[in-house]
Amino acid sequence: MATQSRGHATQLLRLYEMRVGIGHDTHRLVEGRPLILGGVTIEHPRGLAGHSDADVVLHALTDALLGAAGLGDIGDLYPDTDPRHKDADSAVFVRETLQRLQKDAWRVVNVDVIIFAQQPKLGPVKTTIRRHLAELLDLPADAVNVKAKTGEHVGSIGRGEAIACQVIVLIDH
Ligand code: MG
Repeated sequence: MATQSRGHATQLLRLYEMRVGIGHDTHRLVEGRPLILGGVTIEHPRGLAGHSDADVVLHALTDALLGAAGLGDIGDLYPDTDPRHKDADSAVFVRETLQRLQKDAWRVVNVDVIIFAQQPKLGPVKTTIRRHLAELLDLPADAVNVKAKTGEHVGSIGRGEAIACQVIVLIDH
């Protein structure tokens, strides 16, 4: 009997699968561009340079999702040489990636995000970014966490030359 239930448990474990994915991105801060982080436009004299809207958070999120599902990376799927993606809203990359995951019956469990920026101070907008990401991913707000770090005034982040983002995601089916 015990052997039989152990066999059943093993079968269930095979049916239920979890995967993690990690994503990272960095973009340069330049004059004359809007600053968009996690789909939220933030008042700041400089914005991120890039082919699309350069949303470092949504790029890192896309890469984390692709990584978890074993689907490659954002550079493979959305090359910055493609004119279709010029100034594109990066939410498109996330939505299309979610569709790819759904095709394989993957569901996003939770997401943890760290944004590295010396300026602007992200404390006041963290909750807005979190809410926006939760909506984009169709997740409850407590399944999406957003943390902000400075660069401690050293390196490219600390000198305010760039903003970076790291995302980790858990998916299951
Ligand atoms: Mg990028």
